[in-house]
Amino acid sequence: MRAASAERLHHAYLIVGRSGVGKLDIATLLAHALLCEKSPDAAPCGDCQRCALNAAGTHPDINQLDWIDTARVISVDQIRKLTSQLTLTTTYGPYRVAIVNKAHSMTRAAANSLLKTLEEPGAGVILILLADNDAHLPVTIRSRCQRVVLPLPEKSVALDWLKEQKISSPEMALEFAHGAPLLARDRATDVDLGSISEVKSRFTDFLNRDYEPAELARITADVLGTRDALTLFLQWTTEHIKTTELSALNSRTSSNGHRSERRFLSRALERLQSALRLDNPSLKTQTVLEGVLADIRIMRVRTRAETVQ
Ligand SMILES: [Zn+2]
Repeated sequence: MRAASAERLHHAYLIVGRSGVGKLDIATLLAHALLCEKSPDAAPCGDCQRCALNAAGTHPDINQLDWIDTARVISVDQIRKLTSQLTLTTTYGPYRVAIVNKAHSMTRAAANSLLKTLEEPGAGVILILLADNDAHLPVTIRSRCQRVVLPLPEKSVALDWLKEQKISSPEMALEFAHGAPLLARDRATDVDLGSISEVKSRFTDFLNRDYEPAELARITADVLGTRDALTLFLQWTTEHIKTTELSALNSRTSSNGHRSERRFLSRALERLQSALRLDNPSLKTQTVLEGVLADIRIMRVRTRAETVQ
C-alpha cells in the first residue's frame, strides 16, 4: 500500500507461505484496495461502487485464477485466457489486478506463457502470484517478481483467532495444520480432533513405555492417512524431545538414562523421517505404520539394553 501511494508499485508480486497461512486473503485485500475509488494506499473503504462490485465478485478489473481440482495443475490454456484478459483496457481505475492462486502448480508451458506478460505487462497491470513453495517455480518467473514471505503467525495469536472462530479443540486443530490457522479452521470440520487427541496420548505412551505397535497403528489408521500420521508422529516426537530435555535439566536422575533416552528419540525421529520420504501412497496406512512403529519399539528396547550394560 505504501508502494501504491508513492506510485512505485511493482508490476508483479510473489507471495510465498505455507498452505493455510492466509496468502489469498492478503492478495484479495490488496487487490480490493488498489481497485477502491477512495485511495490505493489504505484498506478498501467498503462503501464505494467499486468496493460493492468487489464484494459481489463482479468487478471487471480483477481476475483470479486457480487450479482446476480434477487436474491439480494450472494449465497453459488457463494462463493464455488470463493474459488475453490482461490486455483489455480497465473499466474503472488505473489498475487491472490478476491473482494466480497456487502458482507453484503451473505446468512448465503455463509458466512460459505467463513469462511473456511478466516481461511486458500492459499499463496498470498488477500480477499477484501465490505459492506454498516457490522452489517449484522457474527462476525466470521468480526473478521477475517482488517476493513477499508470509510467515506462520505466533502460536498464541493463532489460538486466540481459532477460539474466536469457535473451533472446539483449537490446540489440536492448529497442531494438525502444522501451525497454519486458516488450514486449521478449514480442516477442523472434516477431521475428528477428539480421536486425534486420543492417538496423541497413546503415541506418547508408546514412546515412554511398552505399548503394542499393532494396536497403535490400528487406532491411528482409523482416523489419519499415512502422510498426516507420520507428520504428526514426527511433530509429537520433537515435542517429546523438548519435554525430556527440560526434565533432564530439572532432575537429578542419572545422566546415563537421559543420554540413552535422547539416543532412542533421535533414532525414532530418523526412522519417521525416512518413512515420510519413502511414503508410497499405494500401501495401506495401517501396514506402513505397523512397520515403522515396530522398528521404533525395537530401537527403544535396544537403546535401553545398551545403557544397562
Ligand atoms: Zn471503496
